[in-house]
Amino acid sequence: MIFGFGKSRDNDDDDEDEDDEEEVDLVNFQGALNGRSADLAANARLVQAALLPTREMITDALERRAEMIRLEIKGEKAQTALSVDGMPFAGSRMPKQQATAVIQMLKILSGLDAKLKGKHQVGGVKAEFNEIKYELTTEIAPQADGTERLTVRIRNMKHKLDTPQELGFTDASRAMIRQLTSNRHGIIVSCGPVGSGVTTTLYALIRGIDVYLYSIYSIADPGSRELINIKLFEVNEGDDIETSIGRMMREEADVVLVKPIRDADTTKQLMNVADRITVMSEMTAKDAANGIWQLAEWSGNRELASTVIDAAYSTKLIRILCTSCREAFRPNPKLLEKVGLPPETKVLYRKGEPMVDEKTGEEDPPCEKCDGIGYYGRVAMIETIVVSDSLRKLIASGGTADQIKVAARSEGCLTFHKDGLRLVAEGKTSLEELQRVFKA
Ligand SMILES: [Zn+2]
Repeated sequence: MIFGFGKSRDNDDDDEDEDDEEEVDLVNFQGALNGRSADLAANARLVQAALLPTREMITDALERRAEMIRLEIKGEKAQTALSVDGMPFAGSRMPKQQATAVIQMLKILSGLDAKLKGKHQVGGVKAEFNEIKYELTTEIAPQADGTERLTVRIRNMKHKLDTPQELGFTDASRAMIRQLTSNRHGIIVSCGPVGSGVTTTLYALIRGIDVYLYSIYSIADPGSRELINIKLFEVNEGDDIETSIGRMMREEADVVLVKPIRDADTTKQLMNVADRITVMSEMTAKDAANGIWQLAEWSGNRELASTVIDAAYSTKLIRILCTSCREAFRPNPKLLEKVGLPPETKVLYRKGEPMVDEKTGEEDPPCEKCDGIGYYGRVAMIETIVVSDSLRKLIASGGTADQIKVAARSEGCLTFHKDGLRLVAEGKTSLEELQRVFKA
């Protein structure tokens, strides 16, 4: 514990009469992600004014399971907004002066330049709360009115959605990943819009490979991700990707993880080697079918592309019903038919509504687990296109993304819709949530 300014709020309080107040633990900060040590002594006045409110703001967000906090100054006031499982919630308010101090405090804790104003900066700080470790990424963005906006992204190091299982891949999907990565062949790509978890999906796929049987090499930047049993390969200066992969193949690599694919040049180089090694990467594309189409476009050689693209994945996160307060109901046959669930489905679940006391007419207190939100955590819906022989023909003949999508669907590929309905049938999520995600 580096910034051990007392473990609880009580220690920071004076002798005020607050015996009735429950003792609340606060988050502890454990050093900047970039290793820069925070000079708290030189900023004693700021620490005095801002460390406690900073810890309180972060604690509130962690207690509410937020993945993001945004602090914005509007006039003389400041407002925090939280994102919990992708949904917006209002956080605490504070005066402008305090918000400015909190932003400065987080700059120092995150290893950023506190004196620098009006410049975009990104840093981060390690934290611990209730025996769970977190990584907070802090982003400072200058605003037109001269203030700064703070965004803190929170990564729970215990629940990271790291493995295929955590992300929501079924046994069958996991078996498919193992099969696809077992034959030193083909490009497997994780596709999606920016910020949709493309990298998370890619690393979950990598985690799905049997590392005891196959050697995995990486020339991608893993960020803060922990890579287990993956060899980080040093690229020689001046070597292009094809040359580097050639060197890895001489070292008996089975699978290579490369940087995100963004252009035709990279695509062409990867396609030249993908008949002898499994290449895994990520790219920005609307969905799996668009990813495949884009790779074929960039390759400049549809015939070759059609033989080396093996699979494309895409994921969308959906909220999980809170198991403490979800409500079971018996769906009527019309509803089942309308949404496409099997007629024999006996029970579905929906978000729990607060019970109203008949005598007093007052609502019971909200569910303790989810705080009355009705949902707790998220899981991925997964879309998978495994390129079959008939899809290869379609790709070679210049099929559009839509044609690829329709053909993949008719072959029974896993679509978002199908995977989402599975989650509804399993009681993990609700039809309302499924509808919300598709509308978004
Ligand atoms: Zn609940």
